[in-house]
Amino acid sequence: MTESEAVVVKNAGSHFMLSELPQWNPFPAVLRGKVRLNHSKATNPVAVGDHVRYRRDGDDCVITEVLDRSNYIIRKSTNLSRQSHVIAANMDQAVICVSLFFPEIKLPFLDRVLVTCEVYKIPALIVLNKVDIYREDAPEAVENFVQIYEGAGYKVIQTSCKTGEGIDELREACKDKINLFSGESGVGKSSLIKAIDPTLDPKIGQISYAHLQGKHTTSLYEMYPISSGGFVVDSPGLRGFGLVDLQPEEIALYFPEMLEASRDCRFTPCTHTHEPGCAVKAALDEGRISPERYNSYLGMLEQDTKFRK
Ligand code: GDP
Ligand code: ZN
Repeated sequence: MTESEAVVVKNAGSHFMLSELPQWNPFPAVLRGKVRLNHSKATNPVAVGDHVRYRRDGDDCVITEVLDRSNYIIRKSTNLSRQSHVIAANMDQAVICVSLFFPEIKLPFLDRVLVTCEVYKIPALIVLNKVDIYREDAPEAVENFVQIYEGAGYKVIQTSCKTGEGIDELREACKDKINLFSGESGVGKSSLIKAIDPTLDPKIGQISYAHLQGKHTTSLYEMYPISSGGFVVDSPGLRGFGLVDLQPEEIALYFPEMLEASRDCRFTPCTHTHEPGCAVKAALDEGRISPERYNSYLGMLEQDTKFRK
């Protein structure tokens, strides 16, 4: 029996849509009987972005194998839950949409999301949206934000869906990549997706499949092609995104600028809190590590210890 390969572009629970990326030719497929898995024990064996093998069985395409993942991102229902759900696999980039105000940004939360990206080895791109609002009123807040995150080694694109600022740059940054868009409700994530490709409207959703499906099903994660190249996976909200199990001594490994500085710490392991000869604290004093990022680190350390007691 001949088998072909394709990528999962929609996961609707019991059935899937596949496409032979980078070609966009979505077609339905099902899971039936045994599927060969080359990976972990998460509750759902197949996620958006998975590379799969399938074969034709009458009128159906049946997924027979899920190939190795280069990365994947897991969502847990609660911090202490053992149930985990792979929300997406093989993402080239996480596009993290934020706004400084309306809603107000919480840096420790953003830092947790960035740590998650580091843990899962998904390069993160930060999009600071709604700059039209605060460029005038709070220019120092914009500058400060950019300084913190570029200083930590992340790329920050400043955008406005109102004036169009930064939209070309974002479109270019997404080109030919599979992009997982995430952001807290209200930051303008849907507007940004629509701005880089007006044919995409996450608020309406499922437009691209409308002609292929009889009934309307709800799907949490699906992939859409960007007309200028690349793909968007829209992730609904960030709840649960920032929850990974880390040992206290592991946390600093996922703050790139702390990892870099920590090579010169006198003690290993070093918690970078009170030890003499701590190179991270020295970098903090010299302004090479921002107080905001360090504060997020301390918060994660404290919370981690609390959960482990
Ligand atoms: P989502 O919940 O993150 O998908 O956010 P939406 O795209 O629905 O946008 C939330 C609100 O912010 C809407 O009222 C948008 O019109 C507004 N908005 C989005 N982007 C911008 C922007 O760049 N500047 C301003 N001033 N408002 C924006
Ligand atoms: Zn140290």
